[in-house]
Amino acid sequence: MTDTTFSALGLAEPLLRALAAAGYETPTPIQAQAIPHLLEGRDLMGLAQTGTGKTAAFALPLMHLLSARRGRPAPRTCRALILAPTRELAVQIGQGLRTYGRHLHLRHTVVVGGVGMGPQIRAVGPGVDILVATPGRLLDLIEQGKLSLDRVETLVLDEADRMLDMGFIRDIRRIISMVPSERQTLMFSATMAKPIELLSRDILTDPERVEVAAKTFAVDRIEQGVHFVPQRDKRDLLARLLADPAMQRVIVFTRTKHRADRVAEQLSKDGVLAEALHGNKSQNARQRALDRFKAGRARVLVATDIAARGIDVSDVSHVVNFELPNEPESYVHRIGRTARAGASGIAVSFCDPDEHAYLRDIEKLIRRELDHLGGERPRQAPAAAAKPKRGGKGGAQPGARGQGGRGQGASRPQERTAETAADRPRRRRSGPKRKAA
Ligand code: AMP
Repeated sequence: MTDTTFSALGLAEPLLRALAAAGYETPTPIQAQAIPHLLEGRDLMGLAQTGTGKTAAFALPLMHLLSARRGRPAPRTCRALILAPTRELAVQIGQGLRTYGRHLHLRHTVVVGGVGMGPQIRAVGPGVDILVATPGRLLDLIEQGKLSLDRVETLVLDEADRMLDMGFIRDIRRIISMVPSERQTLMFSATMAKPIELLSRDILTDPERVEVAAKTFAVDRIEQGVHFVPQRDKRDLLARLLADPAMQRVIVFTRTKHRADRVAEQLSKDGVLAEALHGNKSQNARQRALDRFKAGRARVLVATDIAARGIDVSDVSHVVNFELPNEPESYVHRIGRTARAGASGIAVSFCDPDEHAYLRDIEKLIRRELDHLGGERPRQAPAAAAKPKRGGKGGAQPGARGQGGRGQGASRPQERTAETAADRPRRRRSGPKRKAA
């Protein structure tokens, strides 16, 4: 937190009232840094992750400016467009807009794939002030003539790095080509990898750059330990750990959707209330699982990386890495699900001998060794771990790192194969049409 206040930042009174009601006392660092520039209408490159308060950092000045300008949206248009990589993040941004804008008369709506288009078409029909969208569904609406972007005054790209990782670059460039060049543009990303830098150069004009400690924002407050355990024994170990009532609200990460389902099923059989969250589920099923977990009706959420990306659940007591991610940055994202909003948290990782190379990458990134909780730490990485075999069952291809390098965003095989496949059939179908367009 910072020693400034929201009113000192110059935000309008209805926003201040909403913030007070939401219990926000002081701006977070990204908010204190970004809001003054944004109120001046500047473009912005924000280096910050979910959990830092970045949603309010862009939503508050956006709402302030839109209501000050007073314009009304024309039918089938929006005045501000917020692009997000995942459905969950888009929904969460929509919830933020509702919270912050409760005393303003701005219309906003969220359009995401995986649910019926009818209600979204009706919602954008009269025009909206703020539209939150995932790229695929947005383009579908535009192609069907239900929406035009030629009145966009402000464009926000949230988690731009993740959008590129998920292969949205063409969609994003297409979308940007439809937005007036006279606009305010904001881009948020956890990293400043080359592709992000290139994109930012293309779409931002004389941007301010603000940065909050991107990688280690919560890591220091999290107790982090590792069990060295063969894959086949992981389920038993998880069941044993869950016998501890201190594990009140737990997110378990797996690498694949299939494994997420299996682990959730097994836990349910053992009498632990568990939900699975991954990209093969319908949007409604995903939201239901998340809502049950948020409301405390499920104790455990078993999730894949992409599905869990950006979700904000308070009071997560533990994160369990049932399988280690092959990108060390994902580890930081995962454990950031605990220790939200100033709380401390506990992260436990299960490491099979084949995953030891991943563990070493993680420890290098966070510059510390995880506490040793059980099993035997291999002295030296076995050959299989140093060069893990390609394309195991379930799709992870750990060896593929070399194609793009860490942080390049070009190769995240784990996410491509294990998670974004859910979006693929739709994208393939619409691909040629888009190319022709
Ligand atoms: P975000 O990084 O936007 O996902 O925000 C992370 C969490 O912090 C959300 O639950 C927000 O509601 C909360 N939050 C954001 N800004 C503040 C603030 N200034 N004071 C207290 N909580 C905040």
